[in-house]
Amino acid sequence: MRNKQIKIMVGKPTGFCFGVKRAIAIVKREAKKAQGKNPVYTLGPIIHNNQVLKELQSLNVKIISAVSELKQKPLAAPIVIIRSHGCAPVLVEKIKQKGCQIIDATCPYVKRVQNYAAMLKNNGYYTVVVGDKNHPEVKGIIGYAGRQAQVYDINSKFKNQKLKVNHRPVGVVAQTTISRQEFQNAVSAFSAHDYRELRIFNTLCQESQNRQNTCQNLANNVNLMIVVGSRSSANTTSLAEIAKKSCRRVYKIENKKELNQKWFSNLCRKREKVLRIGVIAGASTPQHTVFEVTQELGSVLKNSIAGGHNNND
Ligand code: SF4
Repeated sequence: MRNKQIKIMVGKPTGFCFGVKRAIAIVKREAKKAQGKNPVYTLGPIIHNNQVLKELQSLNVKIISAVSELKQKPLAAPIVIIRSHGCAPVLVEKIKQKGCQIIDATCPYVKRVQNYAAMLKNNGYYTVVVGDKNHPEVKGIIGYAGRQAQVYDINSKFKNQKLKVNHRPVGVVAQTTISRQEFQNAVSAFSAHDYRELRIFNTLCQESQNRQNTCQNLANNVNLMIVVGSRSSANTTSLAEIAKKSCRRVYKIENKKELNQKWFSNLCRKREKVLRIGVIAGASTPQHTVFEVTQELGSVLKNSIAGGHNNND
């Protein structure tokens, strides 16, 4: 089919979300202020992106994965930056005890969930956090909710999870980046039980929800979807899961090098005149990575069509 048209549709917004941009700006500001005199650390990588991490490394910013990595009596007071995911208050205390200065780059939307968790704890509620139990944001929120709390793990089978509420009122919050559907599923599972009181707080991040809605619309209208982002990014994973619900061919990549011509060859041999490819990116994917992917996608598709002509003409 010689006149095949290709449409590459990029879901907006692209580039870093507000919380990630803010956290990177805070780290750069602190690195500049410290001028190499005070060590600057981030507790965990500030973003799941190697290029940004290398840039921060060049500004003498180091990543620590645990508080125990901080020296007991440092010569100059180290600066420890809490990333956008936030962390449990007990960790903040431990860092302070090591004589460090804390700079909190927790995203304000995550902070809001932490505040709800603390409020529920202070008012005698049993707190349920709907999310991925292994995600750092969830571990941080649970830290604010105290002992009378549990994670409602979206990766487990809901039916098998029992709430140990002991006749307490129950408060529910969500990890900011899970999908609306995941939150709704969990809430309807709760509602099947009787509680003295059940308070549900919609703590989903609107910026993340906008990307998810765009992803859903794109997936409904394309032949193939490319989801760009780090494998360890929770919101990128959510986007891929949403896309899979309405599009049969969904591929998750970190950068242009991972595009595979094989994915497009069969599609290009199909009789349809217009081939629609959707591209969507997670909140920690830089704008230029999305640009590079779409550029490369253009060449890969041209080659695939040329291959299709050889076979079919
Ligand atoms: S996805 Fe939303 S909650 Fe997460 S860092 Fe970005 S703005 Fe904040």
